[in-house]
Amino acid sequence: MDFTISLPDWAIEENQRLPRVMPTIEERMRHVIRFSRLNYEHKTGGPFAAGVFERDTGKLVVIGVNRVVPSNCSSAHAEVVTLSLAQEILGNWDLGAAEFPVYQLVVNWRPCVMCYGSVIWSGVKSLVIAGSGPELEQITGFDEGPIHPEWDVELAKRGIDVTNNVLREEALEVYRAFAASGALVYNAGGGGRSKLVDEG
Ligand SMILES: [Zn+2]
Repeated sequence: MDFTISLPDWAIEENQRLPRVMPTIEERMRHVIRFSRLNYEHKTGGPFAAGVFERDTGKLVVIGVNRVVPSNCSSAHAEVVTLSLAQEILGNWDLGAAEFPVYQLVVNWRPCVMCYGSVIWSGVKSLVIAGSGPELEQITGFDEGPIHPEWDVELAKRGIDVTNNVLREEALEVYRAFAASGALVYNAGGGGRSKLVDEG
């Protein structure tokens, strides 16, 4: 018995076409946001993508996407998929291993409660996000879970630096387009929109 999560064909092809090195965090985020849009447009997952890069050089490891619905796997969020692919590619469960350069995760919004944990467990030492406010939940209806009120302080305590609000508007545009498309919001417990969001 096993389970496998794979990138869709278009994302494999796009990874092969990406620049091998992206010196600025804006360039890294621009490609991550582009993947987030392509993913829901291709109906291959939710509007989320993430990339693992060498923080200091910008060397690309991989950009991955959300695969929850096509994989029948609630944990196949973009961050988990991408961190797992990076660990497979680099041959180590710990991206913070002593022989490695500093690895960075770039995501098109603050990770949900599950992926927040996956960031801590992954060994990355840098997190770059497009934003962290309630806008993602308000626009899309996804329930991101109970995030620790001092989430960034807790990351800093563990040696993970956070860079926030990188291409924020571009990320929000994708969420607005996703919401307008009427695509499935795959919250658990019967799917559909989160009660928490609807009541809030
Ligand atoms: Zn998540």
